[in-house]
Amino acid sequence: MQGTSENAPDSTPHASPLTPHARVNLFGLDRAALRAEFEKMGESGYRADQIMLWIYRRGVVDFEQMSNVGKALRARLEAHFVIRPPELVTEQVSTDGTRKWVLRLEEREGRPETMIETVYIPEANRGTLCISSQAGCAMDCSFCSTAQGGFSRNMTTAEIVAQVYFAGKALGGDFQNEKVISNVVFMGMGEPLANYNAVLPAIRILLDDFGFGLSKRRVTVSTSGLVPFIDRLGDDVDTALAISLHAPNDQLRDQLVPINKKYPIAELMDACRRYLAGKDRKAHIVYEYVMLEGVNDQPEHARELAKLLNAAHGGYSAKVNLIPFNPFPNARYTRSKPDVISRFSDILRAKGLLTMTRRTRGDDIDAACGQLVGKVQSKQKKRLGDIPVRVQ
Ligand code: SAH
Repeated sequence: MQGTSENAPDSTPHASPLTPHARVNLFGLDRAALRAEFEKMGESGYRADQIMLWIYRRGVVDFEQMSNVGKALRARLEAHFVIRPPELVTEQVSTDGTRKWVLRLEEREGRPETMIETVYIPEANRGTLCISSQAGCAMDCSFCSTAQGGFSRNMTTAEIVAQVYFAGKALGGDFQNEKVISNVVFMGMGEPLANYNAVLPAIRILLDDFGFGLSKRRVTVSTSGLVPFIDRLGDDVDTALAISLHAPNDQLRDQLVPINKKYPIAELMDACRRYLAGKDRKAHIVYEYVMLEGVNDQPEHARELAKLLNAAHGGYSAKVNLIPFNPFPNARYTRSKPDVISRFSDILRAKGLLTMTRRTRGDDIDAACGQLVGKVQSKQKKRLGDIPVRVQ
């Protein structure tokens, strides 16, 4: 178990042990850590499994309702732990059914209270939850609005996991129905691999049979390309991986995704090769490519991209997700025209790549890729679908 700092009591040292802030938030403990906590208390580890089932399979966070746990133990749990979901600030519902929740993160480690966003994208027979891993982002990609607000702080494991719990509740509370949240993607605010110590236990909870029980193909970590952590992710949990590539050469990628100056494309492709080594062919990596008018969307870019990915994936098809650029205030780019995107995609397909163009979802509520900023919309900008929701 790594990154124990967020599992320590989230309080100032002088707080009373009975205040919620002084108790460990169970959303922050994966099964190994929870079992260890229980054993420290002199309780058997299987109790930890029971508690996880209550939380993640039944959506119960009130110890009193955990009927197979004896009264005395319930009281001890109450004294040691809290199971605390984040506080909702606003919920918005798009005309296409996409939902965006703005959640409040408490003041922590000297950083003031801040907000993050979680987005739910329903589709026929499935639903994707897009979660945040940091408040703000330090990667500074030039086409992303999260970057404009800068970096506030890392989210804790508890804060990351609680987004999934929160969404499950907000979507009707049936935690057994795998069609409601069938996929979780780390494509909200932040760079997940820059907060690896908190993200890894969160992934373990998503995958655990006593946790949310998602298969590792249904959990996608999206990264701007932090090479050493791509290797660690492969060794530790081996989820689906999305690479925010966005350019076929270093000269262009340096401008769009500045982390490229540290881990250039050749190193990134080597890390992708290692990620796939020895795995079955279904272990896809998806390459994300934002379509920016006149910047990276020309036929020569498509041909260069195909060459790069075919070389990296020698022998079988790489998958490319073209994302039409989503605009935001003061953005310096515009979205490529539909015919330019389809020409680009035709070239990739002709070269054997599996290519999809991402349908823009939720842009009327600023919930589309790259539009998350963590701020509550200004009162003047009230939109259709803004609905007040009571904080639970
Ligand atoms: N930091 C991670 C995950 C966050 S963003 C990463 O870089 O992968 C999820 C995806 O949305 C990334 O591919 C990102 O590059 C893309 N994105 C960011 N801003 C965008 C915008 N304005 N329009 C379209 N896609 C954008």
